[in-house]
Amino acid sequence: MLPQPANCPLCATAAERLRSAALRGYKYTCPKCGTFGIESGALGLNAMPLSAPQDLARLRAYGHLPCVQRDKQGVRIGPGKA
Ligand SMILES: [Zn+2]
Repeated sequence: MLPQPANCPLCATAAERLRSAALRGYKYTCPKCGTFGIESGALGLNAMPLSAPQDLARLRAYGHLPCVQRDKQGVRIGPGKA
């Protein structure tokens, strides 16, 4: 499957995304934010945590693919399945 152009849901920069069944959403590659996953349920929410850039960097430092997930409390960023 080919990546499709899409604006990054975190910073709105022009990016690319690939549908990912394992992530139950998409895997984005953004020139600013890097590669991360996002669940379909978390897309379109204008409630991204202010700490998102630091969360992405921290998870990457530990070798995880950061993934934006939605739960009852709202949006959180945790380790996703690559
Ligand atoms: Zn971005």
